[in-house]
Amino acid sequence: MAVTVPRGTDVAVVGGGIVGTSLAWELARRGAGKVTLFERGVVAAGASGRTGALLRQHYSNRPEATLAWEGYKVFAGWPEIVGGDPVHTPSGLVVTVETGPGYEANVDRLHRNVALQNALGIPSRVVSPAELRELQPGVQVDDLAAAAYEPTSGYVDAVAATRGMARAAERAGATIREGCPVLAVERVGDRVTGVRTPDGVVPAGVVVCAAGPWSTRLLAPIGVAAPIEALRVQVAIVQRPLAMEAPHLVFLDTVAGMF
Ligand SMILES: Cc1cc2nc3c(=O)[nH]c(=O)nc-3n(C[C@H](O)[C@H](O)[C@H](O)COP(=O)(O)OP(=O)(O)OC[C@H]3O[C@@H](n4cnc5c(N)ncnc54)[C@H](O)[C@@H]3O)c2cc1C
Repeated sequence: MAVTVPRGTDVAVVGGGIVGTSLAWELARRGAGKVTLFERGVVAAGASGRTGALLRQHYSNRPEATLAWEGYKVFAGWPEIVGGDPVHTPSGLVVTVETGPGYEANVDRLHRNVALQNALGIPSRVVSPAELRELQPGVQVDDLAAAAYEPTSGYVDAVAATRGMARAAERAGATIREGCPVLAVERVGDRVTGVRTPDGVVPAGVVVCAAGPWSTRLLAPIGVAAPIEALRVQVAIVQRPLAMEAPHLVFLDTVAGMF
């Protein structure tokens, strides 16, 4: 089958994860010119297709909490803002703090984080273990000191969101090229000039590297050191008891590092 590679593009986006597809959408709809996204496999082939996709807004610093709040608005208003079916399940989410030595400091931190959220307008409140049991009957709370409860948070269908964002980018005029790896970023002097693909060089005025942990391989040869380190995490899939109606609350234990 003949593959058509565009002769040139104003913006070349490398990577079809949630970052690359949403950048392509924003750039295309804001009139950045001809936008072409290059994905070596299929859209959502990387972390965006494997994520647990919790949608939480509990952070200890203002920039991240603000970013999460703004991101939440897009996910919650998906059909109107991006288009297509809803992708967010607002199951509610709790961040728990366990009892144990020094737990008071963690409870203080929880209160500070919730105060920060509330100052930004994020719905969130601290609940006692007894209240948590009312919110989620059957949950074991004996070793819990407190929890922060976000009623509108939950989780996202990440594959649907990433593919939906790619479709929205196309509707805004972007071109999505799946199965088209970028082998190298072309550079002349101190300017990037395009991307090299198996079908030849595609000239580009701007190259956006959104290749996740693979970005370092593309950027190092052009002298850009991206401080990205890949981290392997473990995922366990368990059956929920019949008695537990779906969807249940999302639990995030920042002390044990589990969700
Ligand atoms: C198990 C797990 C659980 C997670 N849980 C959560 C969570 O609960 N909540 C949350 O917000 N985040 C979570 N994350 C993190 C989240 O998934 C990532 O931050 C996000 O998906 C990163 O998106 P991305 O677009 O930057 O990268 P990716 O989705 O990895 O996209 C990069 C894309 O670039 C492509 N690519 C690479 N090299 C090239 C090349 N040379 N040419 C063309 N294409 C290329 C890849 O194929 C890939 O599709 C989790 C991640 C994992 C793995």
